[in-house]
Amino acid sequence: MVSTGAAAPGFGLVVCDMAGTTVADDGLVERAFDTAAEASGIAAGSPRHREMREHVLATMGQSKIEVFRDLFGEEERAQTANRAFEKAYAEQVGEGLCAPLPGAEETLRALRAEGRRVVLTTGFAPATRDALLAALGWHGLADLVLSPADAGRGRPFPDLVLAAFLRTAAVAGVDQVAVAGDTRSDVLSARRAGAGLAVGVLTGAHDRAALEEAGADRVLPSVAELPALLRAEESR
Ligand SMILES: [Mg+2]
Repeated sequence: MVSTGAAAPGFGLVVCDMAGTTVADDGLVERAFDTAAEASGIAAGSPRHREMREHVLATMGQSKIEVFRDLFGEEERAQTANRAFEKAYAEQVGEGLCAPLPGAEETLRALRAEGRRVVLTTGFAPATRDALLAALGWHGLADLVLSPADAGRGRPFPDLVLAAFLRTAAVAGVDQVAVAGDTRSDVLSARRAGAGLAVGVLTGAHDRAALEEAGADRVLPSVAELPALLRAEESR
């Protein structure tokens, strides 16, 4: 008989974004973007710079290289800007300018202690992601950590959520996946993957209205409230 996994109810897989959801951002992405813009010959304070910064904020959560492709339209310039961005971000992280959001680490541990699998996702390239994990001392904290390069496309495509589902083989169906993130793109990726629960959090880039408009089932003040929400949803 083929096992259907039907004996494992509830949200057995939780997919959580990093920056803005479990990791405090505090303007690191914006500062790294300014460095990248400068490296690409875009003068700080120029109309083009302002326009690009707005795009970066609106697309927070998406694959960074894709954002630079959108901005420059030309592969070589996009790669140059992305390298400058990744380098500037990694330097800030190396200087200790990153920290877990309050309660995030305990939350991830609690979710796993409840028997759930936890996958962290990010729009950063693998090298930046690993520098961030090392600075936070987070290696081994989650079951798996995925960058767009590991999955196919970044958010708002569903690939990161689906890769988490496929790689962990933790649950029978995508309806048993809960996704939490601070951006429209996180929520959209969850909806497109068919996740059972798409949760927005207010500790990062986008506000309640934006997250709800993207299709969030629930919006929480922070990820620290996720375990209680999952238990409440499961007991309904
Ligand atoms: Mg984020």
